[in-house]
Amino acid sequence: MCSWVNVTHTSLVQPPRGGQRPVERSLNSDCPNMRDVDDSDLAHTRRGEADHHTGPAPSPTTEGKPMQVPAQFAYAKAGSVDEAIALLRRHGPDALVVAGGHSLIPMMKLRLAEPTALIDINGLSELTGVAVQGDEVRLGAMVRHGEVLDSPVVREHFPILADAERLIADPIVRNRGTVGGSLCQADPSEDLSAAFSALRASVVIRSADGERVVPVREFHHGPYETAVAHGELLLEVRVPIRAATGSAYQKIERRAGDWAVASAGAVVTLDGDTVVDVGIGLTAVGAPHFVAPEAEDALRGGPATDDAFAAAARVAAEHCSPSADQRGPVDYKRHLVGELVTRTLQRATARARGEA
Ligand SMILES: Cc1cc2nc3c(=O)[nH]c(=O)nc-3n(C[C@H](O)[C@H](O)[C@H](O)COP(=O)(O)OP(=O)(O)OC[C@H]3O[C@@H](n4cnc5c(N)ncnc54)[C@H](O)[C@@H]3O)c2cc1C
Repeated sequence: MCSWVNVTHTSLVQPPRGGQRPVERSLNSDCPNMRDVDDSDLAHTRRGEADHHTGPAPSPTTEGKPMQVPAQFAYAKAGSVDEAIALLRRHGPDALVVAGGHSLIPMMKLRLAEPTALIDINGLSELTGVAVQGDEVRLGAMVRHGEVLDSPVVREHFPILADAERLIADPIVRNRGTVGGSLCQADPSEDLSAAFSALRASVVIRSADGERVVPVREFHHGPYETAVAHGELLLEVRVPIRAATGSAYQKIERRAGDWAVASAGAVVTLDGDTVVDVGIGLTAVGAPHFVAPEAEDALRGGPATDDAFAAAARVAAEHCSPSADQRGPVDYKRHLVGELVTRTLQRATARARGEA
């Protein structure tokens, strides 16, 4: 059973540290309680500074200084997945679930998100755990980044995830942020989406009407837009285990723990020296669905050679759509895509051969 309380402000998490990152457009059509965000809003959010407020909804002030506090909202801690879904439905389209809170709470503090109710899913054991089930690995939506990083199952089957997790933020964020929260936030610079897309993972989404399975490659409808509709909960991610397969992830960041300037992940399945299947994920460079399908097509069925990898990487660099921003110009980001795709294909292939 849950109990509702009214909360007028909170400090569940610290505001994000670090610099700005691009936001191409927003916001979630499934989250009508969230208003549009522009670069100045997020610059303010990420600095975590209260020197001025640029958003259209002014924060309360103390002695003339803006405060970073959320608007009033109701709070309920769900006791089960079914109860969380019932609470979402009962409270209407302006209710949101809170997982790690590392993205949602800072946005609420700056009134970029104004849910009328928060449904806390942190106590739900149904959403935890990393386990092999048949020929898949299942990761619950509430698995923390740190748990993915420490998981022997992940290290054995999907080194791409361990590579990516090592590069996400810092231990404080990794101890709290979740797999489900990362996917549902759908930030264009988010790392796990690219890794799961390269792995051709699927997610399980439940509503009061039942469950559906959605490939991660179809999950993101755009920046901050996903397949999760009002009244639905992301339950788990399922990743297929493939034989003769290696994977790797690399990221260029301005400083340790920062969001990506560009990132790439590769998953290579070999039959001898032939690439029988390949997945290439990209982050922060405007790749639709976080993937490079043209580069995958260029490589699939061909030789696993450095020349072939470089050619596929050129295709990936050509087809992505990075934006110029404080992290660098378009040409630089395309250059990074070329380098990172080449290197991750090489490393994934070495791992598939048991050489790394
Ligand atoms: C300082 C800082 C640096 C960061 N750096 C990086 C980085 O380099 N790379 C990177 O990839 N990420 C980075 N992140 C993001 C971080 O990794 C978190 O994963 C992310 O903030 C969201 O996860 P969360 O569990 O905190 O989600 P929350 O903030 O709780 O939720 C985010 C959104 O997802 C929804 N949601 C959450 N869980 C579910 C569910 N099960 N079903 C349906 N909807 C759900 C919420 O309603 C909300 O809209 C950074 C975050 C911070 C604060």
